[in-house]
Amino acid sequence: MARYTGSICRYCRREQVKLFLKGTRCLTDKCAIERRNYIPGQHGQSKGRRRASEYSRQLREKQKLKRIYGLLERQFLFTFKRAERLTGMTGDNLVSLLERRLDNVVYRLGLALSRRASRQLVNHGHVMVNGKKVDIASFLVHQGDVIEVRPRSRENVAIKAAVETVEQRGVPQWLDWNLGTLRGEVRGLPTKEDAALPVDEQLVVVLYSR
Ligand code: SF4
Repeated sequence: MARYTGSICRYCRREQVKLFLKGTRCLTDKCAIERRNYIPGQHGQSKGRRRASEYSRQLREKQKLKRIYGLLERQFLFTFKRAERLTGMTGDNLVSLLERRLDNVVYRLGLALSRRASRQLVNHGHVMVNGKKVDIASFLVHQGDVIEVRPRSRENVAIKAAVETVEQRGVPQWLDWNLGTLRGEVRGLPTKEDAALPVDEQLVVVLYSR
């Protein structure tokens, strides 16, 4: 599978917005957006940049959303098609489906410092859903599902470090979190407002409707 191995801070610099891809570093003044807030590349600082076309704006919103959740084009398109088949607004459905991914839920519960790290936790089998090990990052959670760390992984250093930051980051309202038992529950399905993303998802819908 194709994998980007360059600096992921370039993604934020390209979009000119913090996408919070690197855990605690994103909250410090070492963040690349704080230090070099211009588009990467040879012409990033040139003043004569052309006004963005409508297509370019739509493309940028799609790239932002894809990068926030760390998906490749094919996975993202697959999720979009699924969102289209659901009742309601496609853009809202898309954000909800992305939020319900298990790797995102683990990140939102504060068990990992970034979505990248949470994907690794899931892939390495440290997480259980309703008492069963689930190692598929794209697994979609449902209302009432219980997400917890496997007993043998409770002493995992990365999980312990992430949990210490939970209070600072906060847990969204659609999730219940018990710090003592490292156990979370899905109260209800997430909405676009719950996700609070710096993205206009309607432009993504327009892009794929072309
Ligand atoms: Fe983005 Fe975080 Fe890098 Fe800042 S530190 S540029 S928010 S990934």
